Amino acid sequence: MLPVIALVGRPNVGKSTLFNYLTRSREALVADYPGLTRDRQYGRVRRGERDCLVVDTGGITDVDDGIEQFARKQVEVALQEADVVFFLVDARDGINAADQDIADFLRKLGKPVVLVVNKIDGIDSNTVSHDFYSLALGEPVAIAAAHGRNVSDLLARIDELL
Ligand code: GDP
Ligand code: MG
Repeated sequence: MLPVIALVGRPNVGKSTLFNYLTRSREALVADYPGLTRDRQYGRVRRGERDCLVVDTGGITDVDDGIEQFARKQVEVALQEADVVFFLVDARDGINAADQDIADFLRKLGKPVVLVVNKIDGIDSNTVSHDFYSLALGEPVAIAAAHGRNVSDLLARIDELL
């Protein structure tokens, strides 16, 4: 079984863009893999030492209605399967209540979480990333998924967490 990375975050933060970037090789699509359910999108991430699987959870919605609403089944299952969670936030939007709710949930989950600040292209990433420290999920990794910028740094984090 390969290590599984779950991509989570509210809609529009760039989960699917990162998924596509990570799985862009021809062999990346995972049609069937023992032990995984099939109602989510899985892909294989090529890495130096050891490949990973990545799962796009399709977005956490209804966060305004509270944590019970946000923790929909698919996301829950994806998180159960995950060895590492990539929690994406949007550098341009800054922190909002939805991010805060998700962060609270993930802190209780007890799995390794990497806070990923996406869409740093064209903005001052140092200043922006600093704001996200308040989510209390450790040092954020600032990336631009659309351009693949800093994604290698993100993947390097996995080795520290597995
Ligand atoms: P998801 O709902 O979390 O899966 O988000 P998507 O991957 O569908 O992306 C939402 C929007 O953000 C799309 O219009 C993307 O093109 C855009 N986007 C994603 N990553 C980046 C990025 O690194 N920089 C910028 N500027 N836009 C991005
Ligand atoms: Mg998506």
